[in-house]
Amino acid sequence: MMRAESKNLEKAFWRLSKYIESNTIHYVENCISCGICYEICPAYHLDHKYAPAPIGEWFRRFYRRQLNPIARVLGKLAHAYPLTIENLMKAREYVYRCTNCGACYMVCAAGIDSGHLALLTKSLINDAGLTPQVLKTLNEMELKMTYLTSKVQDLYGKLIEEIKKIAGGEAHINEPDRSVYIPISVCDLVFAKDVIISTIRILEKLGITWTIPDVPVGIRPPMGYVIGDFTSYAALIRRIYLNAKELNCRIILVTDCGYMYPALRFEGPYIAEIEQPCKILSIVELLEDYAERGLLHLRKIADVATWHDPCMLMRRGGVEYPHAILEESTFFTKLKWSGKYSRCCGGGSHMFFLQEEVAKALSEVLEVDLVKMLEKDTFARKIAEFGYEMAKHRAQEIIENGPKIVITACTSCIFMLRKAISESTMPFIEVKHLAEFVAKNML
Ligand code: SF4
Ligand code: SF4
Repeated sequence: MMRAESKNLEKAFWRLSKYIESNTIHYVENCISCGICYEICPAYHLDHKYAPAPIGEWFRRFYRRQLNPIARVLGKLAHAYPLTIENLMKAREYVYRCTNCGACYMVCAAGIDSGHLALLTKSLINDAGLTPQVLKTLNEMELKMTYLTSKVQDLYGKLIEEIKKIAGGEAHINEPDRSVYIPISVCDLVFAKDVIISTIRILEKLGITWTIPDVPVGIRPPMGYVIGDFTSYAALIRRIYLNAKELNCRIILVTDCGYMYPALRFEGPYIAEIEQPCKILSIVELLEDYAERGLLHLRKIADVATWHDPCMLMRRGGVEYPHAILEESTFFTKLKWSGKYSRCCGGGSHMFFLQEEVAKALSEVLEVDLVKMLEKDTFARKIAEFGYEMAKHRAQEIIENGPKIVITACTSCIFMLRKAISESTMPFIEVKHLAEFVAKNML
């Protein structure tokens, strides 16, 4: 390897060290390789090579080499690896199997978050230029706002027209002093338009004032979180916080899950070094609160329904399934693996964006050929298949529970589960967003 290249990779580590805090050091130092976390990991289920400890181990190897003087001298004898393209390519095989679902963190007695270590390794991989081109392109477009193509603007215009029809002719674009600000994204436009329409229908009915931005706030922000680009991650958090602050709203209402919820609610102020402008709520929290207070009434449907916990809402966000809504309005059945121990749908983190159908749909509106990028990228396609295999496992668990409808609150969960269920033996099981379910059954 060229000396200059090695220096650059070392510099990337020092830039990243800004985000190496006491928690990270604990994750690095205290894994005892007991294997307790293995069984719950969706990657381990598919291939025993990709368990949480070996996934997290790649960051430990680089960390030891950079920060432990004895390990630096002993090298591989002390499990310390230099930052080289070759080693980062090997690391990529592991950390890109991780959906950052957080399940290992829930069961580890020492509280080790291997998903977080995988994210830090992805950051080094990104600095080495080894991030799959599809993800790199989406991240760059989001940061530079080049996602605002004429097709995106056209779709947004159509959404605004639909919103006006259900909101007395008003779309309340960038209107100050409203209660709720909805940070609509390109993925909402392409994959979850009905979720936005349903959300607005519900807010109107509940008498909650709302506003929307004049353009989508990102592709599915923060894309930087997906690939470990902390500069881009911080910029997107700032963009959304500043919009909300200028509008003086009380709540940023997150209708999707992905990384947006934990990023805005928990990590945002630390990553973006900016004060949180207002309360951050998931649509699940807001609706459940109204149902618990007797302010949201739904008709009881005759169907058996279940809830799939999106990883970023439940495990990384602490948002439980909406008991008051689901137990009152459906014949509710809990999945065997649910709550903190729910299984990832396989669409977590980068997995969703690497699915061919997603790349195709985004290519059409973003006017960039993501499909061709995928075709050329054997690694990305292999990882996409791995994610889809996870989805099939989760779909099977759902099928065994026998619901007629699966309710959740995340665009990628809905996409992955719909696809896996539609190709299963029980293709008629519906997968719906909570907002769609509530809007349809609200009295
Ligand atoms: S991360 Fe925790 S549970 Fe998993 S092997 Fe290490 S110590 Fe054991
Ligand atoms: S975060 Fe999820 S996918 Fe990643 S290592 Fe832990 S359990 Fe496995």
